[in-house]
Amino acid sequence: MKTFFRALILAAFLVAIASGVKAQDLLASQAPYDTHMEFVDSMELRNMLFNESYLYPSEDLYPEWDNNSRVHYSGKLPDSLRIDLREFVMPTKNVKVTDIFGYRSRRRRVHNGLDIKVQKGDTIYAPFSGKVRTIAYQRRGYGHYIVLRHNNGLETVYAHLSKKLVKENQVVKAGDPIALGGNSGRSTGAHLHFETLICGKPINPALIFDFKNQGVTGEYYVYRKNKHQSVDPKTGKVVDSDLQQYHKVRSGDTLSKIATKYGVSLSQIYKLNKMNARSVIRPGQQVRYR
Ligand SMILES: [Zn+2]
Repeated sequence: MKTFFRALILAAFLVAIASGVKAQDLLASQAPYDTHMEFVDSMELRNMLFNESYLYPSEDLYPEWDNNSRVHYSGKLPDSLRIDLREFVMPTKNVKVTDIFGYRSRRRRVHNGLDIKVQKGDTIYAPFSGKVRTIAYQRRGYGHYIVLRHNNGLETVYAHLSKKLVKENQVVKAGDPIALGGNSGRSTGAHLHFETLICGKPINPALIFDFKNQGVTGEYYVYRKNKHQSVDPKTGKVVDSDLQQYHKVRSGDTLSKIATKYGVSLSQIYKLNKMNARSVIRPGQQVRYR
């Protein structure tokens, strides 16, 4: 008889488990009724949030998910943002930076990214997990290009590609091949034009990626809206300094030399110092360039 009851109890447990009711509910029927439900809810919520982070990465930072071809747009920038770089994979194994970020007097325009020498057909990798926002072609500009939105809040742009290996809205993991490098669009010689954006605003990719040493500048990059940021050449770490910066004029300096030295436009220097093309500068004078 004892064995029969044991078997009966066991059968009841098995039926209960099979029907989705936890065995502990039968044993602890005095426990608050909704304990089990809360457990289910939080699991479901967690799964839902996890799935949503893939459906719509960085939802808190970006008001919408759209596949339009705009690369840069004026999103609302946070005052500061900590970007997790720990899962990084270098977008290319190539190490040679052929053009830096900032104002190029040679081209008379701002260069919104870094150029890295690649061979046509070299694989380009997603540096962080996220989702493909835009895939497009711009004959006189970027050529074949891709914009990724990452879960860490960053967006990255890859231009002059020869082949795209992903589709819009595709979820990517850090290290997934996304494209092959090339020479499409306005480009002389195969290279990767690489941009890093926060809410549509380009920031210097060198604040995050060190292509020469194939690494990142830290476990986190902290963007600060009201600071000028640069990388210390000795430590390779990001340094925040005051936004307003001055150059002390030495003999032989001209305003255009100062502009070139700091990678800013001459018109910016005129504006900041209330100067014009006829203005004369003297050694020892402080000229604001940022
Ligand atoms: Zn470029």
